[in-house]
Amino acid sequence: TVGMVSLDQSGSISVGTSTSGLFMKKPGRTGDSALVGDGFYADSEIGGAAATGLGEDIMKGCLCYEIVRLMGTGLSPQDACDKAVYPFVKKLKERYGKIGEFSLVALNKEGQWGVATNVEFTFAVGTEDSKPAIYIAFPGENDTTK
Ligand code: ASP
Repeated sequence: TVGMVSLDQSGSISVGTSTSGLFMKKPGRTGDSALVGDGFYADSEIGGAAATGLGEDIMKGCLCYEIVRLMGTGLSPQDACDKAVYPFVKKLKERYGKIGEFSLVALNKEGQWGVATNVEFTFAVGTEDSKPAIYIAFPGENDTTK
């Protein structure tokens, strides 16, 4: 999946996802990328979030909605990603053992961003004043819930 969150000059938040689904997916399978709250969510009064990775696991947590909800309580995008994703990863591992790889990005209406992942994850951040910068995130790297 390619997922993106943007803030435009009028202050609107937009989120987009584009996915081919999963390799060898079952006919008729719907992944998280097509589902509001699971693969993407936006609220222009707060911010937005987008996900990539194993939809079956992302969907168990409605992670994009949860990240935006947490940003709405005043958390930064990074804190909201940490709080939504890492306890959820722990819970899934305890319950199911092995879980899928997934990553989430978030942006708020102030233009601050955050990321959380359980795998090595490459992403880009761009502003109107700068060329996009490429970053690599590692699992729990910025986890503020630890
Ligand atoms: N999230 C997508 C899905 O589960 C897969 C992907 O990220 O490529 O359908």
